[in-house]
Amino acid sequence: MDIASFDRFGVEELSKEEYAAKEAGILEECLCATCPTYVAGDAPKGYCFPVVGTSDKIKVEKDCVCGGCSVFKEFKLTHNHYCTRCSQLCQTYKTEAGGGHE
Ligand code: SF4
Ligand code: SF4
Repeated sequence: MDIASFDRFGVEELSKEEYAAKEAGILEECLCATCPTYVAGDAPKGYCFPVVGTSDKIKVEKDCVCGGCSVFKEFKLTHNHYCTRCSQLCQTYKTEAGGGHE
């Protein structure tokens, strides 16, 4: 698998400023606050992005609305429930690079 398949956001090639700008754009588009799984007040959202991390507050998975999000479409994301299962990059490593040794 090539790097682009893992690094959907292209973060490997971003400067610190570009990285911050990309994260800010993602937070603006993020639909998590409208999701049934989301717990009010949790921040910063945008859980699909590599450094955001999983939520401390969200413990129960209900539906995930990531599939309808413009970020999901723009960056051709392939997972969901990023708030509880970890970022796109992290889930890709677990499922596709883990070779079944989880
Ligand atoms: S794909 Fe999901 S986690 Fe990522 S910005 Fe959209 S709604 Fe938020
Ligand atoms: S990552 Fe998915 S499940 Fe979690 S709050 Fe965002 S839209 Fe909902």
